[in-house]
Amino acid sequence: MTKLNQLTLITVLILGCLSVLCVSQDFDFFYFVQQWPGSYCDTQQSCCYPTTGKPAADFGIHGLWPNRNDGSYPSNCDSSKPFDQSQISDLTSSMQKNWPTLACPSGNGIKFWSHEWDKHGTCSESVLDQHGYFQAALSLKKQVNLLQILQSAGIKPNGDSYSLEDIKGAIKGATGLTPWIECNTDTSGNSQLYQVYLCVGTSGSNLIECPVFPHGKCGSNIEFPSF
Ligand code: 5GP
Ligand code: 5GP
Repeated sequence: MTKLNQLTLITVLILGCLSVLCVSQDFDFFYFVQQWPGSYCDTQQSCCYPTTGKPAADFGIHGLWPNRNDGSYPSNCDSSKPFDQSQISDLTSSMQKNWPTLACPSGNGIKFWSHEWDKHGTCSESVLDQHGYFQAALSLKKQVNLLQILQSAGIKPNGDSYSLEDIKGAIKGATGLTPWIECNTDTSGNSQLYQVYLCVGTSGSNLIECPVFPHGKCGSNIEFPSF
């Protein structure tokens, strides 16, 4: 091999490695997860939302979670970029409304958002910086008004039970996409609608069909508690 060829080979290898490091995107899609506050609050825990105020009776954002097609997911990817409130000061009021914490008795949004950023947001830094990450989640919530979709299909948060198929069907009918429903149980052991997962492409802006669903089980009829 000539000196020039050797140099070329080395250059190609170095550039190749750098590109892997720089634009490496260790995930294939996002789960956009929304929580129903009524189902967080009627479980066995001693209290639910913060004493500073009751969030709206609406689905709230839980998180935007980078995930891999094999079902695994990266977490806590970059401790050098801790959550920095000053980067999202323009989003704070929208976050308080759309991404409220239910932690109690003294939860505050910053702690919840900081946890979500550190655990999940740092794993999609190759596509979304901190501001972009939170803005993407807020914009997804606007795109899909879950409560309105369910209510229009006669599925109301009034403590009644609804078939899981009807719930999924309503969301599929409105979005064109199959959601994943996560259930938890109330104090009497009834299965209830806790979180709704939708999948999002790697840019964080477009809803897609889920490449893989999480595991877990709901009853075939599930309660939709009031809040
Ligand atoms: P749990 O074990 O309560 O279902 O989930 C605990 C936390 O683990 C979630 O809030 C989330 O941060 C993370 N998690 C659970 N399942 C998944 C998943 O399928 N994908 C991703 N990206 N995170 C998950
Ligand atoms: P994940 O389950 O996403 O890993 O983390 C949820 C963490 O955020 C838990 O430590 C939980 O105590 C805290 N947290 C604060 N507010 C909320 C909330 O409104 N809902 C949920 N599910 N967790 C919250």
